[in-house]
Amino acid sequence: MTLTEASGADGAPRPASTAPIHGEHDAMRNRLLEGKRAIVTGAGSGIGRAIAALFHAHGAQVVLADLDAASAQAAAQALDAARCHGRQADVASEASVRALVESTVARLGGIDVLVNCAGVPQRYTVIEALEEAHWERILGVNAKSVFLTCKHAVPHMKRQGGGTIVNIGSIVGVRPKPGQNAYCASKAAVIALSQSLALELACDGIRVNVVNPGAAETPMLAGFVDPARTPLEEAKRSFASNIPMGALIQPDDVAEAVLYLASPLSRQVTGAVFNVDGGRGV
Ligand code: NAP
Repeated sequence: MTLTEASGADGAPRPASTAPIHGEHDAMRNRLLEGKRAIVTGAGSGIGRAIAALFHAHGAQVVLADLDAASAQAAAQALDAARCHGRQADVASEASVRALVESTVARLGGIDVLVNCAGVPQRYTVIEALEEAHWERILGVNAKSVFLTCKHAVPHMKRQGGGTIVNIGSIVGVRPKPGQNAYCASKAAVIALSQSLALELACDGIRVNVVNPGAAETPMLAGFVDPARTPLEEAKRSFASNIPMGALIQPDDVAEAVLYLASPLSRQVTGAVFNVDGGRGV
């Protein structure tokens, strides 16, 4: 299959350069993912939960995966028990990811959209104090997870003739901070892996993009802060003061960018690294 013959995430074969969607914008803007089947990892909290809610509002069926079964199920039930399904999954475990993908395909019949949002933070740790197990956990949850979910979801997308993958990186993946050595490395790995896959999968009609949030107002933010050194509210003010736009990023800010990259509106976009960071990465 050549690029010009590739079918898009909506399944229909079409030349890559035609523009059938412009006249349909008004209708599409409200239902950008109508009928699509999506997995969102880390969907029990924060940004992942906001992405799942926006996908649901745009017509998708969503599997909300999280390490914590109760939060995944609560997030799904708060949306719509008919189109949203909470599921426990450890994205750092191949057996768990394989089971997540297989159960999604069994339930929904396929996977059109994959969002890798699960992640763990890192408090300031000098390199000589960083334990091997800590490094492996951060790299496992934040980076190996993207390899595992893509490995198991991509064969289904190839069979369907296309799909979209959006991976949540971080602005520190391109503009690192001291003391967050493993976290920065994990997010840089997400970006490089995503761009390699964007090239590898372009001819299969599978697009792969990255969204890099800046410091965002979610439960994770406290995980970057050592409360013995800096009270959380003071740390939040400090994070915000380093953002040119002057405010912490909100989960919905990130979700809107992910929606664009997951939807046919971005059908010629792959390998992009999209910063939602109030300008911090400039
Ligand atoms: P969050 O509210 O803590 O959400 C992260 C979710 O991932 C939690 O529900 C967590 O579950 C889940 N998770 C952790 N380990 C997992 C595993 N092994 N398997 C499955 N799920 C797992 O954090 P967030 O801020 O929304 O973060 C979402 C993404 O944005 C992450 O990739 C993060 O690195 C990235 N990001 C965040 C910020 C920020 O400032 N908040 C900035 C840049 C990038 P538990 O709570 O049960 O552990």
